Amino acid sequence: MEDCIFCKIIAGDIPSSRVYEDEDVYAFDDIEPQAPVHTLVVPKMHVATLNDIDDNSLWNSMLKGIREVARIKGIVESGYRVVVNCGEQGGQIVMHLHVHVLGGKRLDDKMG
Ligand code: AMP
Ligand code: ZN
Repeated sequence: MEDCIFCKIIAGDIPSSRVYEDEDVYAFDDIEPQAPVHTLVVPKMHVATLNDIDDNSLWNSMLKGIREVARIKGIVESGYRVVVNCGEQGGQIVMHLHVHVLGGKRLDDKMG
């Protein structure tokens, strides 16, 4: 989609630090990490928010991407947090669905 920063990253028009990729999803390190591991998993297809998923197989692909990122980053055993911000009050800034995978330290107990 034109003017979508994550579509541009997926297309390679904006550089990113790639962590994992398959035919459905792309994962790259967040530019402003909030934990030692902070990687974003995004669908290659432009989907704006969690509300806009209408094909459950896409969520399965996202789940696979999340688990691959955790494995590659070595945080499967230590544990990690998965966050999806959805919409304005959910704190979503980039309107291309993305899952934050956070870990590498003991994360804050507070989430809201
Ligand atoms: P959200 O608030 O859930 O929409 O999060 C958007 C995330 O995208 C933030 O954590 C940003 O730091 C991250 N971000 C924005 N631009 C880039 C970029 N060019 N490369 C990597 N991460 C980015
Ligand atoms: Zn997009």
